[in-house]
Amino acid sequence: MTNITVAKGDGIGPEIMDATLKIMEAAGAEIKVETIDIGEKVYLQGHSSGMAPEAWESLRRTKVFLKAPITTPQGGGYKSLNVTTRKTLGLYANVRPCISYHPYVATKHPVMDVVIIRENEEDLYAGIEHQQTDEVTQCLKLITQPGTEKIIRFGFEYAKAYGRKKVTCFTKDNIMKLTDGLFHSTFDKVAKEYPDIESEHWIVDIGAAKLADTPENFDVIVMPNLYGDILSDVAAQITGSVGLGGSANIGAEYAMFEAIHGSAPRRAGQDMANPSGLLLGAIQMLVYIGQPQVAQKIHNAWLRTMEDGVHTYDLFKEGVSTKKVGTSGFADAVIERLGQEPQQLAPIAYSAGTTHKIQGHFDKLEPAKKDLVGVDIFLHWNGEDRDPNVLGDILSKFTSGPFSIQLITNRGVKVYPNGNPETFCTDHWRCRFTSKKMDQPSSYNDVLALSKMITEAGLDIIKTENLCRFNGELGFSLGQGQ
Ligand code: NAD
Repeated sequence: MTNITVAKGDGIGPEIMDATLKIMEAAGAEIKVETIDIGEKVYLQGHSSGMAPEAWESLRRTKVFLKAPITTPQGGGYKSLNVTTRKTLGLYANVRPCISYHPYVATKHPVMDVVIIRENEEDLYAGIEHQQTDEVTQCLKLITQPGTEKIIRFGFEYAKAYGRKKVTCFTKDNIMKLTDGLFHSTFDKVAKEYPDIESEHWIVDIGAAKLADTPENFDVIVMPNLYGDILSDVAAQITGSVGLGGSANIGAEYAMFEAIHGSAPRRAGQDMANPSGLLLGAIQMLVYIGQPQVAQKIHNAWLRTMEDGVHTYDLFKEGVSTKKVGTSGFADAVIERLGQEPQQLAPIAYSAGTTHKIQGHFDKLEPAKKDLVGVDIFLHWNGEDRDPNVLGDILSKFTSGPFSIQLITNRGVKVYPNGNPETFCTDHWRCRFTSKKMDQPSSYNDVLALSKMITEAGLDIIKTENLCRFNGELGFSLGQGQ
């Protein structure tokens, strides 16, 4: 018997959760449910994360969370329960199988069986944002070596456990050479550890276009957080309905399973909603907790139900469907078919090998030899028609150690020296101080001395960013035009 924490959520949540629990019970799942309250009611009671302290205690005890969708109240001050849960519990891997069930569910893509594995904690979702000037806001994109190695190994381990043939990586490293570049180079490095699995990389824009056009060419796709967030919804939708998507969020110690859709408030309380997304999430949970036979039994009964044309309103189509059912009627139809396999769709077989908890690890890096070779000083400057040459002349008076002004960029484009007068300039200037060849190491005292001089000259420093070499390699991007 495995203890699990269950939250029924808001809107259609309680109905689809009751249906899912009923099916699991009928299939003989050995689970003991602890129910907690989350969502709208809890937010409105004053818990800004949407979860009360006693709910966290249950999760810490069971470490397995089956969660129905919630309604996030409108207005400010409410933190996303999903983001909080993922980060608090270290759920770094989001797994979303996106499969089409042609001809039983209408889809433009009859052959589609893709698993999207999305990094769940980093990237632009670190939530570190600042307004820096009147005109400019920024969001920090953090891609780490441990986070990247863990998710990419997870992707390959998942492919291995489920007998999948290929892992694809999407990044935008032609533009973001350091951050997405780290993701891509880590992918290439880890792929070598799995010679039996094919690996490939696409730039995310053309990769996304291909995924939407010919999903049959993809198998497992691993991506940084933002691309994965967007593309996993696209992939689920093109299988026929987001209502069919279930997802797992896996960490080293904890895991959370859910439907990918929201609480569909307009459908609440009417016994109409499709419980399939949550049920498919629960099936992943059963595999995770070591009950693959029960998972297999439910999955095959569910496929048979789909195939028999017993559909909820969102999938019902004259000529294809045979019977329109509500949430509870659908649960009963799945229960009736427990022990049966689909006749046309491929039956599922979860072998003992798929019961292992999949994990990705990272190798600890040897610290590199790190040399400070310069500093980018960011200024909020609005003077003299925003003429970069005027700013350049002011800054050329300041030197400290080997550092003098080499370059000014505006939104990343070189505007000094020898900029193009056509370049549009905002009030946000990145001023790069280094030695001529960016090769003379110095100390942070030079950064402090420069900052002091610049501040005393009446200029407004927004922030500074150290420029370092790691084992001699540049640890920063060059300005466009540098
Ligand atoms: P939604 O997913 O709730 O609904 C989108 C559309 O899909 C609606 O037309 C809805 O009727 C339909 N739909 C969704 N699930 C269905 C199901 N199981 N069966 C049949 N039809 C289904 O998205 P939304 O309307 O943008 O959001 C509603 C609320 O859900 C918001 O408060 C949002 O913040 C929240 N939300 C929560 C989660 C989560 O808890 N994981 C995820 C997304 C949205």
